[in-house]
Amino acid sequence: MRLKDKVALITGGGSGIGKASCLLFAKEGAKVVVVDLKQESAEATADEIRNAGGDARAFAADVSKAKDAEGMVRFAEEQYGALHVAFNNAGVFHPDDESVTTTSEEIWDMVIDVNLKGVFFGCKYQIPALLRAGGGSIINTASFVAVMGAAVPQIAYTASKGGVLAMTREIAVEFARQNIRANSLCPGPVETPLLAELLADPARRQRRLVHIPPGRFARAEEMANAALFLASDESSFVNGTSFLVDGGITAAYITPE
Ligand code: NAD
Repeated sequence: MRLKDKVALITGGGSGIGKASCLLFAKEGAKVVVVDLKQESAEATADEIRNAGGDARAFAADVSKAKDAEGMVRFAEEQYGALHVAFNNAGVFHPDDESVTTTSEEIWDMVIDVNLKGVFFGCKYQIPALLRAGGGSIINTASFVAVMGAAVPQIAYTASKGGVLAMTREIAVEFARQNIRANSLCPGPVETPLLAELLADPARRQRRLVHIPPGRFARAEEMANAALFLASDESSFVNGTSFLVDGGITAAYITPE
């Protein structure tokens, strides 16, 4: 078991990549704190883990609120006595987040609040707990869009993910000698509820598919496997990286026909 006796906190654990990671981390021996804005979704993931013989607790929190972020970390330490792995994965994608010239201030603020400030608050409260545990691993979910431009823009989302990359690098360097590692996970497009509406439109689906070398979208479980590597001691010398799990999108100029 690759996470035996570790306590892992995963935000956005009620759906998609977060849920798949909660299930996988628990299977690998972790005690999992499932955090989500939606209490029922968090409970459902924790129930599924317990029904499979694992150990999990649910906690409802809005990661963009400092009090909630502080509360989720306190909850992990109260329930399990320590925190070893923090996966700041909760994120939002808004259909009205488009070009820089049309995106409203409200949409900008909402997306940045969850995707960037949410990761900041997560790290702010998780790092002292990781230090109390003697160190640990932080994984922050960014995206491949943080390193590429797109003609179908989502300016606030892209900016938020670029911010996650830069912030994670700085954290990785500052705390490296205190046995904390911090890495960004950069998924390519994944079939999850986040993109369900967008990918339901055949034209918008195809517009993206053509740029993905394997000719398909990723599955949430494929991101969970990458996160598991970053969470476990197998990645003990991996620090400050932007781990691209994108099927080769960022390597491609012309994809196969
Ligand atoms: P998802 O919509 O399936 O799951 C996101 C979860 O986060 C939901 O359960 C939601 O309730 C929760 N959440 C939203 N706002 C929250 C908040 N303020 N506080 C706490 N929880 C909140 O999405 P997903 O595809 O699994 O995305 C997970 C992460 O991966 C996000 O950061 C997303 O930006 C990133 N990502 C996704 C893709 C993709 O193609 N799906 C690609 C690259 C990056």
